[in-house]
Amino acid sequence: MSRTENIKFSYQEIDDPDELVPSDKELLDMARKAAKNAYAPYSRFKVGAALRLESGKIILGANVENAAFPSGICAERTAISNASSNYPGDKPVALAIAALTGEGYSDEIVSPCGNCRQVIAEEESRYGNNIRIILSSRKKIWIIEKGGDLLPLQFSKDHLRSALR
Ligand SMILES: [Zn+2]
Repeated sequence: MSRTENIKFSYQEIDDPDELVPSDKELLDMARKAAKNAYAPYSRFKVGAALRLESGKIILGANVENAAFPSGICAERTAISNASSNYPGDKPVALAIAALTGEGYSDEIVSPCGNCRQVIAEEESRYGNNIRIILSSRKKIWIIEKGGDLLPLQFSKDHLRSALR
């Protein structure tokens, strides 16, 4: 016996940043500013992330590339590692992401890579709350209410539990 299962995923599309609620607009503006601090001499694709913590603090991240490519790190994980190291226990509640190319903010919506999706999912599991994800291009914004939705069938601590018994 076999059957096909479906995983449903929804997001909100917004055409104008001015339609965002003020806290999301602020976070996106900060992600856009953070992109300017990226060190991306190889890809010239500068990504900024702004992570809002439950206390209201906003932690910025930008990608940091390296001539040894795997040694580089993405903007999202830079912000999350910074928050985790400096404000442990202060839950991340929202993450905005923006990218700068040679011609200004990206034409396409930029979405986290697989590694970052895994790290976002772990933060949600660690603190037991959803992280609202705000993705952007020059013109459009997508809002995803739960970061883990970007990584269906994600690997988690539950998979390790049987090994740790
Ligand atoms: Zn990434």
